[in-house]
Amino acid sequence: MNKLRIVALGDFASVTSNLFAYHFLPDGKENNDQILLVDCGLGFVQDDTPETKLVGPDVDYLVKRKNKIAGLVLTHGHEDHIGALPEVLIQLGVNFPIWASKLTAAMAQIKLDEARISQKIKILAPGQSLSLGGFKLYPIGVTHSLPGTFHFLIETPIGSFYHGTDFKFDLNPPDGIFSELGEIARLSRKPVLALLSDCLGAEKKGYSPSETILNEMFDQEIKKAKGRVFITAISSNFYRWQQALKASAEYGRKVALIGYSIRKNVKIASEQGYVQLNRKQLVDDRKIKNIPDNKLTLLIAGGMAQVGSSLAKVAAGKHKIKVKKTDKFIFSSPDYIPGTSAAINNLINNLVEQGAEVVYEDLGEELHVSGHGSRQELALLINLVSAKYLLPIGGEWRHRRQYGLLASQMGYLPNQILLPKAGAFPTFWENGQVDFNFQLGLNPKPLNR
Ligand SMILES: [Zn+2]
Repeated sequence: MNKLRIVALGDFASVTSNLFAYHFLPDGKENNDQILLVDCGLGFVQDDTPETKLVGPDVDYLVKRKNKIAGLVLTHGHEDHIGALPEVLIQLGVNFPIWASKLTAAMAQIKLDEARISQKIKILAPGQSLSLGGFKLYPIGVTHSLPGTFHFLIETPIGSFYHGTDFKFDLNPPDGIFSELGEIARLSRKPVLALLSDCLGAEKKGYSPSETILNEMFDQEIKKAKGRVFITAISSNFYRWQQALKASAEYGRKVALIGYSIRKNVKIASEQGYVQLNRKQLVDDRKIKNIPDNKLTLLIAGGMAQVGSSLAKVAAGKHKIKVKKTDKFIFSSPDYIPGTSAAINNLINNLVEQGAEVVYEDLGEELHVSGHGSRQELALLINLVSAKYLLPIGGEWRHRRQYGLLASQMGYLPNQILLPKAGAFPTFWENGQVDFNFQLGLNPKPLNR
């Protein structure tokens, strides 16, 4: 009987290192097997050292089958979905088509160009279907903390799968581009065998707040500041940069972009219209000395305390920008990315010790909203897709457990909620059955950059 195996090369119980292989194995024609890849992200070493270290997915499974890869699609531009692309492509050493939304493609293309990989990422427009080998894919635009995010309905020879990567259903998105809920319902009219769904928000009741609620926070924090304001967030959080630029303009502040990743990302976002840059408001980082402290905002990379990031250097006194007692640092970064909390804690302590005011989530103010849907959004997706099986992704065991409880409240039976143990991967059979007989040990590889 024909079958399809889904291998999560960064493990199913992982928030980061997203790389999924949909491996179709036709009965009796073992050499005609085909692999579709979804995402190619990096992760963080999960130890308690004071620096965040990068790790890539284990791709030995793919290296052994590299000529079977029909193509790769990228869901969105977050590092844990595209960040390992250069290393993985070099390891595989074969060419296959790579597709992504316009914004994701631009973000990933820069990574390939910097690694001197000549391949060009192809742009997939919303509503455009795509055939890769025996797989047919339909992209569906969804809201997340980054524009240009796609879910995919994937038709395979044994049935359809819904790949529901990181999402929330933001009903008031800052860019006015809504989730294509109608499209999810339309594409799910045909039976869907399994829904792979983001589950990181499964512990949270209700709906995730909209990104737009932070407008007020930025306005208030910048209004109250007496000296320089440093704002840090994930470098690709364009919504946040746009909000910081707008609030700074309101109080006559010039803005400097500090750090390579933030300059690079803001450039892409402004070229694609996601950030409105007023050239007169921007100030070169070499000229910030000429601007009075209370007229200056610095958008600075390194909110996750990555090794060598600008913020880590500023905090450690190793940057030309030195901390002043009148400075205010705003951490508008996610509260939960495994492998980063000890390093972020260290960073906050360093800044506080030097006398700066530091504003961060634990102080109780809403400085960040999650890009991941809470229980009601997860339930809505489960309802719309109505798949036979549910396979939570993008969360750890605690999130997967809560997702499973939610699904069982909605009438799903235990054998329909797939929670594979570490190293076990589901095989879906043409008759609709599933088993976990396929085992694979994974060894994430440190990324030395
Ligand atoms: Zn994401």
